[in-house]
Amino acid sequence: MAKTFPAKYGEMVISKHNTAFGICPHHLLPVIYRVSVAYIPTERVLGLSKMSRLVRLLARGPRLQEDLTHELAEILFNKLESQGSAVYVEGLHMCMAARGVGAHEARLVTSAVRGVFLEIATREEFLKLVVTPHTTVL
Ligand SMILES: [Zn+2]
Repeated sequence: MAKTFPAKYGEMVISKHNTAFGICPHHLLPVIYRVSVAYIPTERVLGLSKMSRLVRLLARGPRLQEDLTHELAEILFNKLESQGSAVYVEGLHMCMAARGVGAHEARLVTSAVRGVFLEIATREEFLKLVVTPHTTVL
C-alpha cells in the first residue's frame, strides 16, 4: 500500500471528481472517467494525492469500467483496512459517443460500496456529496 498516515478522525474522506483516462476493452477506444472515491478510516489514512494517483493508475489500459469501480472499492476497504469504502464512476465512452444522435451525451455510471457504506444513510451522504449536475464536457 502507498504511504499512509495515522487517522485522527473516523470521518468520511472523499476524493471527488478525479479525471482519469482508460480504454474500453471491447472497442479499444478511449474512455474519460470522472471518479469519486471515499472511505472511512479505521487506523490509517491515505494522502489525497495518493487517492488520485491510485485512480489514474487503475484506470489505465484496456479494462471494464465495472472492474475498475469494484477494484477501487476493494483496495480502499481491504488494503487500507478501512471501515468502508465507496466509489462512483461516470465514464464517457468514445465507442458510445461515436454512435450518433444523443449518444455523445451518454455516460456509463457505476458504483460500488463496501463495509459501512452498505448502510443506506452513509451511502446517501456519499452520493449527495459527489453526484452533481454536469457543467463540463465530462
Ligand atoms: Zn466500447
